[in-house]
Amino acid sequence: TVSTLAPGHQKALNWIKSGTKRLLIGGKWVESQSGKTFATVNPATGETLTHIAEAGSADIDAAVVVARRAFESSSWTGISPHARTRLLLKIAELVDQNAEELAVLETLDMGAPLSANIARSAQVAEIFRYYAGWPTKIFGTTNPMDASRFQYMLREPVGVCGLINAWNVPLVMAANKIAPALACGNTAVLKPAEQASLTTLRLAELIEEAGIPPGVLNIVPGFGATAGAAIAAHPDIDKVAFTGSTDVGRQILVASTGNMKKVSLELGGKSPNIIFPDADIDRALTVAVDAFCKNSGQICSAGTRLFVHESLVEQATEQVSKMAATYKVGSPFEADTQLGPLISEKQMERVLSYIDVGQSEGAQLVLGGERMGDVGYFVTPTVFSSVTNKMAIAQEEIFGPVLSIISFKDEDDAVFKGNDNSYGLAAAVWTRDISRAHRVARALKSGRVWINTYAEGDPVMSFGGYKQSGYGRESGAESIDSYTQTKSILMRL
Ligand code: NAD
Repeated sequence: TVSTLAPGHQKALNWIKSGTKRLLIGGKWVESQSGKTFATVNPATGETLTHIAEAGSADIDAAVVVARRAFESSSWTGISPHARTRLLLKIAELVDQNAEELAVLETLDMGAPLSANIARSAQVAEIFRYYAGWPTKIFGTTNPMDASRFQYMLREPVGVCGLINAWNVPLVMAANKIAPALACGNTAVLKPAEQASLTTLRLAELIEEAGIPPGVLNIVPGFGATAGAAIAAHPDIDKVAFTGSTDVGRQILVASTGNMKKVSLELGGKSPNIIFPDADIDRALTVAVDAFCKNSGQICSAGTRLFVHESLVEQATEQVSKMAATYKVGSPFEADTQLGPLISEKQMERVLSYIDVGQSEGAQLVLGGERMGDVGYFVTPTVFSSVTNKMAIAQEEIFGPVLSIISFKDEDDAVFKGNDNSYGLAAAVWTRDISRAHRVARALKSGRVWINTYAEGDPVMSFGGYKQSGYGRESGAESIDSYTQTKSILMRL
């Protein structure tokens, strides 16, 4: 019953019930100019949680006008870097204070287990703290010159940033874009994914509470083809940072050419997880299950291609299937649930159709492959063996809990097959041979490589893709480069 809920849970429900969610433009929560709203659905039940004002291109225009004005105003760009640090620390503190509420909202809106989202709330506070350290450390240079001239370089914000996010880890993604944008002194217009906008809206309330000047951060929920496309093509947006599919990333890049926006793209993946016979096999296989089941497989860096040495195929198939079969699929609010629902019916249909494709391509379905129940969008952990690199299930991103087990003969074969894909976001290698570990890590064409682990990260590490997994990097010092531009100044003395 409602009375037994934890306080954060109750707050989340009250917030949802408090009415239709609005757009944040120029420090005010407003309806969309068209008056349109859209529903956001709980993927565990299929029920509508609430309605959200739907931004269209007129709202994007309005948001860009105020973001530009804020960028030109000294109340933002002129403030001391210490003040930006304090603002980011204050946001981190408010995220910590509201961590449970944010986690519950996230779980209701996108379906991942509450325990995972509680950890992500903490991660989001850490992201803001990490970026809070930057404003006072974004240095320019003085450059060597002859005695009659003086030359130096300033590192300046890019301007108005259009930020477009996917739905799979919405709050973490919002933090990964808002925090560096603000740390570097930019202003922003953020469109969360239409499937899961709630935590971004609640985070924006907290950022307002922290005292951000009006217009510096604007939130414009809506659909990709309208609000998203309007951001991508907008003539007065200086940079777009996008997380989503490679297909849409390509469209963003094309749209950006109108005014030569700076673009950074975090796109899809089909990450190889390579286990050599000299590895700690039990540990490697245990982590391999998590690597494809976490977030029900809706993680861009999910370990969806498990490469095992041919001597290990039988053991790996058996152990992985046995362990994955014990993973509990169910309500994301139950403490022992490991897989919540997929984000939507459409996503579930997509995943199930890939499972059909795998079978018709001749892969062997050894576990799962089914929808669970008929309420909500649950798919059980699914394992395919006898997969070859030519099959669509080995090449294309499925974004569900589906693993392809592929055998290799030797190190060269493992590296070749691991790289034989248009994506290059993440990869892992498991071995006790220290030389092999580093040799393979170097040979893999991927923006991140783990050795004897999977899916670990830290805001200090840059993240991004080789090949068609992206453009530029998020997190770490490289993200500061991506939210700033340099100006060289020469003076004749
Ligand atoms: P998507 O590309 O369909 O949508 C992402 C965002 O783009 C949404 O906000 C959507 O409304 C918007 N959009 C759609 N069409 C647009 C257009 N024409 N112009 C501008 N914006 C548009 O992706 P998705 O299905 O929401 O997310 C899943 C994808 O995101 C997967 O491919 C996944 O790998 C990727 N992803 C990548 C990372 C990473 O860091 N590399 C992280 C998470 C997810």
